[in-house]
Amino acid sequence: MPDPISLLRSAVPQRWLNPHREGLFAAPTVGETRLGPADMQGAQDRFTRFAPLLEDLFPELANSQGQIESALTPVPRMQQAMGLPPEQGRLWVKSDHSLPVAGSIKARGGFHEVLEWAETLALQHGLLHAGADYRSLALPAARALFAPHQVAVGSTGNLGMAIGVLAAALGFKAVVHMSTDAKEWKKERLRQHGVEVVEHTGDYEQAVAQGREQAAADPLCHFVDDERSLSLFVGYSAAALYLRDQLYAQGVVVDAEHPLLVYIPCGVGGAPSGIAWGLHQLFGEHVFCFFAEPVQSPCFLVQMLAEPGSHPSVYDFGLTNQTQADGLAIPRASLLAAQAMRGVLAGVFTVRDQSLFEHLALLHASEGMRIEPSAAAGFSGPLQLRGHALACAGANHVVWTTGGLLVPEAQYQGFLQQGLLSL
Ligand SMILES: *Cc1c(COP(=O)(O)O)cnc(C)c1O
Repeated sequence: MPDPISLLRSAVPQRWLNPHREGLFAAPTVGETRLGPADMQGAQDRFTRFAPLLEDLFPELANSQGQIESALTPVPRMQQAMGLPPEQGRLWVKSDHSLPVAGSIKARGGFHEVLEWAETLALQHGLLHAGADYRSLALPAARALFAPHQVAVGSTGNLGMAIGVLAAALGFKAVVHMSTDAKEWKKERLRQHGVEVVEHTGDYEQAVAQGREQAAADPLCHFVDDERSLSLFVGYSAAALYLRDQLYAQGVVVDAEHPLLVYIPCGVGGAPSGIAWGLHQLFGEHVFCFFAEPVQSPCFLVQMLAEPGSHPSVYDFGLTNQTQADGLAIPRASLLAAQAMRGVLAGVFTVRDQSLFEHLALLHASEGMRIEPSAAAGFSGPLQLRGHALACAGANHVVWTTGGLLVPEAQYQGFLQQGLLSL
């Protein structure tokens, strides 16, 4: 068996199981701040407080009374099409590809951070009190407070979309620093929403660094730091509470005979780690979270294999960081996320781009679901786990489809064609 490092270097898809998994999770920590279970609940409560305001700001949230959530759906036709026998468990999709407004998983963390900042400012200036109706934040006094303030972020696209659209809707100045791999239609959509798009010639990491630097010089600017933010992290974690309710509502048991296996596409690691951290608080040793990464951008695997204290990038292993999964084209993992995952992550899978397109097309043909390439990365997980004891008859495999709603039709048809080539 070749070792994980040589597989990594040769960009061959692999399954890596975490030898450090102890079932105990470390508190995610930044400086003196440590997160605990109350923070996950706190994030969910914040979303609840803001729901009436969000419903007013975004007509597409009328059906859900301002709640931003996605369905958990069994996908038996996809399971069959993938060749996953029922003796190896049951396949589900957690449909974040349909999350309204942002169109991706970034609605969770990204929205949480913008809402938390708006709330903090409003409290500081006496515009909110306990039990207040948050719709008052759409009134002139609050708009006047927010207008001189800026929200900035560095992104490959989807995070910028979430932060930019919400910040602009609340009346902030919104600035999104985009890496070269960001798609043109995402930039255009942001500009239409009144967001300033700053284009950088480098990769995601450089876009973030330059955004962070520019923001530091402006005291009225809040920079959403994808590599270090605890607010993003807890925003993602709240997904675990809703998923638990969805599992119970559909009669899914999680215990030693019924392991819950969750597969989440991983970029910098914040979104999947936040969710995995939340799920571990609720299900402990019976939940197994696997991250899925492109073979050319496996930054989280690189970090999990690294010596403690080091912070290598995928370039150090001769990889290109080139992938069609634009949300996953990240050269170096978040240390906050890696530290939080060290003792709990079940493993990492790496995936070729062509597999993303195949699974995107297969999901469309079998279940009529419309996802973007990044969001297809999780489907390789259950396949790579075939033959492992975890893939038992009682297992539930939840593949997290992380984006897709806003992809323009012409782009999507291109993805489909590429997948159909090899089906
Ligand atoms: C951002 C993103 C991810 C991964 O989130 P990270 O926090 O960067 O790890 C996965 N899928 C899609 C579609 C994304 O936009």
